Amino acid sequence: MSRIAQETVEQVAAASDIVQVVGSYFPLKRAGTEFRALCPFHQEKTPSFYVNSGKQQFYCFGCGAGGSVFQFIQQYENIDFPEAVRRLANRAGIMIIENEFNIEDEAKQNLRKRLLRLHFEAAVWFHQNLLRTKAAEHVRTYLKGRGLNIGIAKNWAVGYAPNSWNAIVGWAAESGFSREELIASGLVKLKEEGNPRSQIYDRFRNRLMFPIRNDIGEVIAFSGRVLDSKAQGGKYLNSPETTLFSKGNILFGLDKSKRFIANTRQAIVLEGQLDLITTFEAGIQNVVASQGTALTERHANLLRRFCDEVILFFDSDKAGQKAAERALEVLYGAGLQVRIGELPFGEDPDSLIRNAGSEAFQIRAEAAQDFFDYQMNHNLTVVESKTTAGRMAFARKMSQFIAFVPDAVLRDILISRLAARLTLPRETLEQMIRSQTRQTHVRTLIDNVAPQITPMPRHDLALICKALLTNSALLTQIRQQPWETALRYIEGTELLHQILGSGLQPDQPTSIATFFGSLSRADAAALSQVLANKDLNEKMGQIYWTQLVATELQRRKVQLEHIQRLAGDESDTHAEIVSELKEVLDLETRITDILPLPSRAP
Ligand SMILES: [Zn+2]
Repeated sequence: MSRIAQETVEQVAAASDIVQVVGSYFPLKRAGTEFRALCPFHQEKTPSFYVNSGKQQFYCFGCGAGGSVFQFIQQYENIDFPEAVRRLANRAGIMIIENEFNIEDEAKQNLRKRLLRLHFEAAVWFHQNLLRTKAAEHVRTYLKGRGLNIGIAKNWAVGYAPNSWNAIVGWAAESGFSREELIASGLVKLKEEGNPRSQIYDRFRNRLMFPIRNDIGEVIAFSGRVLDSKAQGGKYLNSPETTLFSKGNILFGLDKSKRFIANTRQAIVLEGQLDLITTFEAGIQNVVASQGTALTERHANLLRRFCDEVILFFDSDKAGQKAAERALEVLYGAGLQVRIGELPFGEDPDSLIRNAGSEAFQIRAEAAQDFFDYQMNHNLTVVESKTTAGRMAFARKMSQFIAFVPDAVLRDILISRLAARLTLPRETLEQMIRSQTRQTHVRTLIDNVAPQITPMPRHDLALICKALLTNSALLTQIRQQPWETALRYIEGTELLHQILGSGLQPDQPTSIATFFGSLSRADAAALSQVLANKDLNEKMGQIYWTQLVATELQRRKVQLEHIQRLAGDESDTHAEIVSELKEVLDLETRITDILPLPSRAP
């Protein structure tokens, strides 16, 4: 496996202040010497998530999450350690040095890098085509007609794919990209599908090109919109799934809008790229677009990182409504509130803003109804129907949605409201929901991201861990002792082993962050909890250590003597016991000379 060099990890740790990094995702409030917020890893009403600047640690008293800046990024972005280091390095402008290359990994990394480069350059090329070429004159006119000026086109790097079968093919060859790279990017198609040797041709022809970026702003795919309204097929054509691009992971615009979504704790979800650009540029900036695909669980979790509430603006036709209902499962499952925005008949956000201004859209967004109210108001004939059967059928439909809601209190409120509105007994609805819940696997965000928790070490071990993490002198002293042999038979000392066996220097915050970076998520969480636990008095560390070892050596001595008595004079065993006893006595003098051994039990 390719490994990021230790010096890079240290550099990144030194350059990434945890308060700043966490604060760039969501606001932190000062609480004494620490910072506090609602925990992003579990649902809560009062904040139990703390960030400590001095220790460069975060921890949550609610769910047990915790660790250094690396673990925070890993858990929050759902990525592995090397990727977390890369992102933080990127943020701090630090060059990554990797060593111990594995050829396969290296090839994969290189292909990824080449594909990113190809996408970046292709975006520039498409954009230049739009701005400069004569062939794009009709596109520029089209954009003007849609109210997209040059400034906006530049902001989003909107481009033009020429009306040709081999313009991209030719450009890529000239720019030094190989045929294999081009095929892997999805910018071209094989004439004979499945035959990599067949001729290739441009996938995007005579289209308005929108670069699709991941949430850190790298171009990873394209979406091409038809210019000729009589053309066959869908309005938008997207890149296929590639090494870089997976539709279910990407929300268009999120790289630009995530700050606004985090600030308002609310995301407006639109369908098309053009809708998004118009809305964003009109000053409504907490927006993302699903790019015409169904919202996935991954999308919902992505949104959940930044907001609590989602307003869906889907087409008012039947397909749009179905899409909204389908989105509900994943959005509720992730613990998000859902409201449904309505547009005047025949309008989309883009046309509404162009015709009536951004205020008109803003008013619609504010007036968006909670999903349940929306459903009831759109099914009034059924809701107010005199026949119980009709109301029961509607109740069954709604109970299916209520079953998705993971929060018990919210579910309760919805049941009460529905029961009152439909004049049906509560028990009937509860019964329906129970049978739904049994059928539906209700997924919650918490299940997905709750870190695996290493059971807290028992009190004395936890206290020693805390002392070692905070007291350089003690750590150095114990490292000079034969601690490994001493701890050999003591259960639950894995974390102690981690600390003592590391290069950690507790008086250097950088070193602490680096050390935490090397731990598993569960170990890091456990040690963060230990650090945060005010009931553990680290000043007692040395005494506890000595007692731990003394008790253990005492135990082993008694045990050895017992075995010796049982074995009698059997020579092999005898020799073994003698040597082990010698080891114990030796340890005793080397470790426990700080404090006298407790007197031997009779
Ligand atoms: Zn938590």
